[in-house]
Amino acid sequence: MATYAGVDLGATNLRAVVADADGTILGSDREPVPRGPNGLAVTEAILDRLRAASAAASVEPEDIKAVGIAAAGRLDLTDGLVEPTNISVGEVPLRGPVSNLLDTENVYLHKDVAAGVIGERYHAERNPDDMVYLTISSGIGAGIAVDGNILAGWDGNAGEAGHLTVDPAGRMTCGCGHDGHWEAYCSGANIPDYARLLWKDDNRPETALPIESEEFTAADVFEKANDAFAAQVVERLAEWNAMGMANLVHSYAPLVVSIGGAVALNNESLVVDPIRDRLDDLVMTNVPEVRLTALGDDVVVEGALASALTGGTGDTTDRRN
Ligand SMILES: [Zn+2]
Repeated sequence: MATYAGVDLGATNLRAVVADADGTILGSDREPVPRGPNGLAVTEAILDRLRAASAAASVEPEDIKAVGIAAAGRLDLTDGLVEPTNISVGEVPLRGPVSNLLDTENVYLHKDVAAGVIGERYHAERNPDDMVYLTISSGIGAGIAVDGNILAGWDGNAGEAGHLTVDPAGRMTCGCGHDGHWEAYCSGANIPDYARLLWKDDNRPETALPIESEEFTAADVFEKANDAFAAQVVERLAEWNAMGMANLVHSYAPLVVSIGGAVALNNESLVVDPIRDRLDDLVMTNVPEVRLTALGDDVVVEGALASALTGGTGDTTDRRN
């Protein structure tokens, strides 16, 4: 039986799935990403997850015809590796070791958000050629399909939408070291610091938010959105998010934008609806359909698998005809 695999090397979790030619998952495995001691330890963990998912599917790793690998971090497509930005392990070799284990040359390596758009495209009813997958999570990024092509860039790092400059005043400094980037304001990791900035600007108003506590998280802002100050923060986040989205729409002309990531998935009415509400006023071209991903937390691993099933594109045209 022809089988296919998907791997999601995320910020915290490492997942592998093995599926049949219809994309029905036969076996899967999941463990936390090892925090060290080096990149090879992460590579070994990926091979272990693939072995375990194969065992769960009752197939040998060599029976897998193609595999998609989605990785969070800076990709190097030439050498087939990734340098994760969230853990200090250096370079993690991917293509070579996985190709050896599965005894196949069909290894498709993508940035996590690119896998996201492949998964969304594959599972969308109309299989659109032009779509964007936007994640609003601990970071922000976008996977982009234009004219049926998944944009990668020469090294695989197209789609770093979180590092688009949205604030020319540059009041917040991004984790990348530059000022005014979208994710410095609106990612889950940075919302608390941005809320603190707004609170000081506003002369420290009364608020139910634990604004000065180290325990203060993005989730607090959305959970207490009926607090007057929290509502103000939610409003400002919506403005930046809508601006970032309008930049993506003007750049890529998507028919559909699907949004995922924990910040969006957990707060659709406070994060996704306000973007949709503002787009008409911000976009001078056609306004795309904006929706929450139906794949939830599985969007990246499903996208990696969809890449294996479709030769790296998510295009199901052949399948449909
Ligand atoms: Zn940045």
